[in-house]
Amino acid sequence: MRKAIYIRFVVIALITAVLCGIVSAVLYSVNEKKQTSEQLSALCFAVSRIYDVNSDAVYLSNVAGGERVTIVTPDGTVLSDSIAVANTMENLGTREEIIRANTRTPITVSRKSKTLASPFMYAAIKLSDGNILRLAQKYSGLDGGFVHQLPIVIISLTAALLIAVFIANTFAKKVIYPLEKAADDIATGNYDALADDAYYEVEKITIKIKALLDKINNSQRETAAEKDKIEYILSGMPEGFILLDNNKKIQLAGKSTKKIFRCETDVLGRDISVLTRNTKITESVNKAIAENSFGIFDLNIDDVVYSVRISPVSEGAFGASGVTILLVDVTAERKAQSLRSEFFTNASHELKTPITSIMGFSQMLENGLINVQMCKEICARISTESQRMNSLIMDILTISRLESGTAVTETENVDLGEVARHVSEALAFQASEANVKVTLDCSVVYLNANRQQMYDLLNNLVDNAIKYNVPNGSVTVSVQSQNRGAIITVTDTGIGIASAVQSRIFERFYRANTSGGKTVAGTGLGLAIVKHIVSGLSGEIELESAVGKGTKVTVILPEK
Ligand code: ADP
Repeated sequence: MRKAIYIRFVVIALITAVLCGIVSAVLYSVNEKKQTSEQLSALCFAVSRIYDVNSDAVYLSNVAGGERVTIVTPDGTVLSDSIAVANTMENLGTREEIIRANTRTPITVSRKSKTLASPFMYAAIKLSDGNILRLAQKYSGLDGGFVHQLPIVIISLTAALLIAVFIANTFAKKVIYPLEKAADDIATGNYDALADDAYYEVEKITIKIKALLDKINNSQRETAAEKDKIEYILSGMPEGFILLDNNKKIQLAGKSTKKIFRCETDVLGRDISVLTRNTKITESVNKAIAENSFGIFDLNIDDVVYSVRISPVSEGAFGASGVTILLVDVTAERKAQSLRSEFFTNASHELKTPITSIMGFSQMLENGLINVQMCKEICARISTESQRMNSLIMDILTISRLESGTAVTETENVDLGEVARHVSEALAFQASEANVKVTLDCSVVYLNANRQQMYDLLNNLVDNAIKYNVPNGSVTVSVQSQNRGAIITVTDTGIGIASAVQSRIFERFYRANTSGGKTVAGTGLGLAIVKHIVSGLSGEIELESAVGKGTKVTVILPEK
């Protein structure tokens, strides 16, 4: 721009200077011609006054200050000439000045001399005797005047050109400077330095630029703030979130998303396939784009179950419609669901057996199929099955309360040794029936816990130790306090548990077949209840058992 201004300015200055030169040269020449014409006319008139028939051209030329003088008859015959011999000269009848000289007033003509081949101005006047007096003076004409002035014109033009170059340079600099400065200020972000310019027009532009920049800055700040917000939300979101445009290019992706798909590269602006090529996701995304439909399904990625929700979005922040993908970790939910359904299946199955027995026996009684002797036995079996059902329902209620978190959790300082004594007393009849000796080795150990839960815990362990024992066997219950917390140990000399199933006996409804063919009443829920109570107190259970030798269960309950 600066160069363009500079060149244009110089060209304009040059054209102006040349035009001025030409006009002044023409005016000068016209003026000079007029002056020469007037002077020559005056001289011609004066010479004609002193002419008489005897005057010759040489004499008259001297009078005229040396100008060439010719005396010609009206038909153009040269009578006398101050330079040439008259009779050697051609007839001048065709010359303009001779034709026009028919009054006593001189006329002037400027033209090129046909004899001397150089430009002349001629003045001619009719003499008193009818002949014509002609004066000739060298005259360069308009061209000559211009040529005469050419050096001055050239010098003036050169000077004008130099001045124009200087002014153009200074002007261009001055005009361009604020714009260059504005550009620099914009580039360096020094927006406050904009405006306040010497030129009103430039100042207007810079003010507008400044206002525009302020607007851009504000909208940039707003966009950045919005982006920060979105990034903050996305980075804090444990769920995976992806926003795709309709070309399946990723517009947004949360931090967790990349973790879920184990992707470490930049994904923004790239195809969804950089994150995942899972066909379920790809098909659902295609469907959402093509049919504007939603997709919800579970997906197992690295042993984690995600509930994937694919939703079409209209007119997103990126200015077009697209698709969002949300991945929510539902592993725990799904596990709980499957445990629940497994629990109900097992519970129904376990309840079915005693109910079937009771129904069978009662129908037999109703139909009179039982004689008086058998009646007592059948009633006893109905009672046993009812008790089994009752303890099963009690255990189911206990475990479901424990699992749902609705179990009574009021705590108090419970002496575990005292609880062990109560349990032992309650099971004394059962122990004597089984011919098993129960020995207590209990200190006073207080634990902040729920009394009923502590009772259930010890009752299940001691009950098992008696149930799965052998005649003349023994059970030792120990409650001690150690660094690790309260230690409860129930040791028996019973049938033991095969090492292959030791890891399973804490599962709900699991009953190991270690009874050697003898049917031992049980629900398969006792140890599951123990496990729940212990884990609720952040404790640990250790199991040592050998088939035919006995079992030792150790429960460690940390002091709170
Ligand atoms: P159950 O109501 O059958 O006793 P539990 O959950 O209390 O249910 O025990 C699960 C299984 O573990 C029992 O069926 C039994 O096979 C085994 N078991 C538990 N305690 C002992 C023990 N002290 N000695 C041998 N086997 C045991």
